[in-house]
Amino acid sequence: MKVITEIPRMREIVEGLKREGRFVGLVPTMGYFHEGHLELMRRARSECDVVVVSLFVNPTQFGAGEDFDIYPRDLKRDCSMVESEGVDYLFYPSVEEMYPEGFQTYVEVEELSKVMCGVSRHGHFRGVATVVAKLFNIIPADRAYFGQKDAQQLVIIKRMAEDLNFNVEIIPVETVREPDGVAMSSRNAYLNSEERKQAVVLYRSLEKAREIIEKGERRSRLIREEMKKIIKEAPLVTLEYIVICDNIFLRELDIINGEVLIAIAARVGKARLIDNIVVDV
Ligand code: AMP
Repeated sequence: MKVITEIPRMREIVEGLKREGRFVGLVPTMGYFHEGHLELMRRARSECDVVVVSLFVNPTQFGAGEDFDIYPRDLKRDCSMVESEGVDYLFYPSVEEMYPEGFQTYVEVEELSKVMCGVSRHGHFRGVATVVAKLFNIIPADRAYFGQKDAQQLVIIKRMAEDLNFNVEIIPVETVREPDGVAMSSRNAYLNSEERKQAVVLYRSLEKAREIIEKGERRSRLIREEMKKIIKEAPLVTLEYIVICDNIFLRELDIINGEVLIAIAARVGKARLIDNIVVDV
C-alpha cells in the first residue's frame, strides 16, 4: 500500500492505471476507521482492480463551533487497517494541498442541502460536495463507494455527479451496525458508557417504524409519533429531527409510498448522531 500526499502524483497514478485499462474504485473517508469504512473498502476490493482510499478530515464541511479540531485521528492505526484490507493507495493530502491560499470555488447542491442535517449544519453539504468534486477530479475512478449511513450525503453526491456529469458510478453500501444495532460512526468515540447505551434508541425507533409500516401504517405523522415515544425513553438523547421523505428529492411525505427514507438525527452528550432506514412501501 502506498501513501500519496500530493495531488499531481495521485492524478498521474490513476490516469496511468486507467490508460492500462484498469478499473479503479475510490472510497472517500475522514479516517478513524471502523467496520463501516472497512465494508466500503471490501466492496471496492471485490469489484475493482485498484482501490484508492482517501483520508482527509475536510475543514470546509465543519461549521464554526463544530468538532473539526477534536475529530478523532489515528493515521498509524488507519494505515495498518487499510493495508490489511488490500487497499492499493491511500490518498492523504494536507489541508494546504486541498485548499491552498486563494481557494474560493465551491459546489452547492442547492435544495437537497437545505433540509434535514442542512437545517442545523449550515454549509456542511457545500463542504462535502466541494471536497468530493475535488476528489473525483484528482482520482478519476470508475466507481466511488459511499455509506447509506449518511443518507442525505449519498443523495447529494448522486445528484452532484449527475448534474455535473462526473464519469463515476456512485455505489451505496449498507449501514454497518454494532451488535446492539447502533450505527458505527467515528463520532461514537465521543460517547460515555451511559450515553452509548442510550444511543440505541435511534436504531430502535427506526425498527419500530419498519415494524408498524409492515403492519400497514402509511401515515408519516403517526409513524413519527411512535418513534418519538421510543426516543423519549432515553433522557440523554435530544431529538433534532425525524424526517420521512422520498429518497431522491428528500421531499417530506404525509402518506408514504414507494422508496421511502426515514432519517433521524439526535444529540447524545457531545455527539450528534444520525441514522436511517430505507423502506420500500
Ligand atoms: P466518514 O469517514 O465518516 O466521512 O465516512 C466515510 C464513508 O464511510 C462515508 O461514505 C460514510 O457514509 C461511510 N460510513 C460511515 N459509517 C458507516 C457505517 N456504519 N456503515 C457503512 N458506511 C459507513
